[in-house]
Amino acid sequence: MSTLLVRNADVLVTMDASRRELRGAGLYAVDGFIREVGPTSELPATADVVLDLAGQIVLPGLVNTHHHLNQTLTRAFPAAQDAGLFDWLTAQYPAWTRIDAEASRVSTLVGLAELLLSGCTTVFDHTYLYQNGNSVDVQVEAAREIGVRFHASRGSMSVGRSKGGLPPDEAVEDEAFILKDSERVIDRFHDPRPGALTRIVLAPCAPFSVSADLLRESAALARARGVRLHTHLAETLDEERYTLERFGVGPVEWMDRLGWVAGDVWFAHAVHVSDDEIERFARAGCGVAHCPSSNMRLASGIAPVKKYMTAGVAVGLAVDGSASNDASNMLLEARQAMLLARLELGLRRESDVRPGDWMTAREALELATLGGARVLGRDDVGSLEAGKCADFFSLDLGAIDYAGALHDPVAATVFCAPTRARLTVVHGRVVVEDGRVATVDMAPVVERHNRLAAALARG
Ligand SMILES: [Zn+2]
Repeated sequence: MSTLLVRNADVLVTMDASRRELRGAGLYAVDGFIREVGPTSELPATADVVLDLAGQIVLPGLVNTHHHLNQTLTRAFPAAQDAGLFDWLTAQYPAWTRIDAEASRVSTLVGLAELLLSGCTTVFDHTYLYQNGNSVDVQVEAAREIGVRFHASRGSMSVGRSKGGLPPDEAVEDEAFILKDSERVIDRFHDPRPGALTRIVLAPCAPFSVSADLLRESAALARARGVRLHTHLAETLDEERYTLERFGVGPVEWMDRLGWVAGDVWFAHAVHVSDDEIERFARAGCGVAHCPSSNMRLASGIAPVKKYMTAGVAVGLAVDGSASNDASNMLLEARQAMLLARLELGLRRESDVRPGDWMTAREALELATLGGARVLGRDDVGSLEAGKCADFFSLDLGAIDYAGALHDPVAATVFCAPTRARLTVVHGRVVVEDGRVATVDMAPVVERHNRLAAALARG
């Protein structure tokens, strides 16, 4: 049995049912699960690991609901800096097709390190290119090494350019093999138990790179095995044109016909949807990964996040892939979500804006914690309360970021843009200490990563 005690945090944000924000508080955890949360004086006096967090704010670990960690290798890629989704993808497919097992490992570590340093403790990654030895296995091993809670996709692309898809033929895989490998990685890695550090998700890439058959078969396999489903949807008007031309219906209707508008599915982006489609999502119980920075970066549009929330759709936040953000900072993403929702108000007629339409800082934090947990189908993360996983992070309230805002440090965590966690703990394990990754020596990883990225950029 291993015990962990957090003491004396200036503020501890619980995200529990009554959204308590405790002063002079901490928590006590046993074997990675929280036993008690409360004022320091009411907690046990000692533990195997004692963390005195005076001068800091503690929050539940952030949950990232959509990423492409391998894309750290093509950040700020010259040919893709100023392009919308389809041109951006087309410019990078050849480089991504050359990512091998080693490049996948180091890019996964780099992306995960950046997330951990911004307080993110649970990560979903949507990889869908497995050429040259890249595999789910490589990524799961990297995630275990660095210590993050990891939901890995067995993603896929099966419709290449010669069959009318967007990706080049050498980037896609055989459908029978995709399904076989999906079963293999579920058998090998998927852990359905509470507190699981590794789960598998089946995630065909997008309507313009997989077939109807693969979507149907993936859903059948996921449902037989009790794993969740994910894909990109309604990200851009390019995509809407594609499904209208090829399938005669919009993206949401297309997915609905294939059994994909359902409670075990969440979609990345879901920017271009009608009010009726929002209601369909709510009725079906499917979720949305909102990626504000990426949607701005690629000029995709503004997702109707407040409408989703009002309708009861589960919404989580995501930094999206590292080539369309190009940062993996969850704290900044929460701030972008708040700001983008407000920009949308400014684009409406004044008479169409009601006070409740404003996204608050606390709502943005809720999307980044509880919202993400709901989207990933987890009731054991996203808040700090007895029975939940000991996943949390702290920020230094003495830092310049908070100066002048200590009357409301919780709101300031979104408004004032602190970017670096001082401490990050996943399942009771310290993974970031004093603002540095504690589990992996990142300097040689970054050096290797830069060499591999340079080689990809050279072509
Ligand atoms: Zn994506």
